[in-house]
Amino acid sequence: MLPRAIREDHDPLKWLAGVGTLTIFAFLRWTDFRCPYCKVAFRRTYLPRKVTLGSGERTCPSCGRVFDDGSREWPELGPGLKIEHLFPTPAKGIIGGVLICLILVLALGFVRQVDWPVFVWLSGGLFLFMLLLLAIRMPGIRRSMRRYKNEQDSTRYATARVEGKH
Ligand SMILES: [Zn+2]
Repeated sequence: MLPRAIREDHDPLKWLAGVGTLTIFAFLRWTDFRCPYCKVAFRRTYLPRKVTLGSGERTCPSCGRVFDDGSREWPELGPGLKIEHLFPTPAKGIIGGVLICLILVLALGFVRQVDWPVFVWLSGGLFLFMLLLLAIRMPGIRRSMRRYKNEQDSTRYATARVEGKH
């Protein structure tokens, strides 16, 4: 097992949450990831739960030692992390907001008439937005699946060779 990268969460403006319109600045936060050996920072993310695809193995650019940077290949991710990778937190906020609007349009329909043009535009926009996110992620996921398969194949080959010697 490789040592895990050090995770450092920074949210210096968290105290602004709930302070009127300044609340928006409370979302300005970032996470630094550092090499567990020499503590040099190798990545900064602005999303609280960013899911990065990769083998997890990273060679430190500063000290040259290998550690686990926390990334995993697509087939290794659980359903929750897969969804987080496809629809990161801000995208989930947008999707949730539009869904609430759609429910409101339908709910208003019970009082007056359902505004179908608005409903169709909103749901169409939501569909396109999600399709766009999927299209953006697809090439990276394909690469990750290929890397994972190659890794599995080479491990199987190596194991077969070792077993063959006995
Ligand atoms: Zn290092």
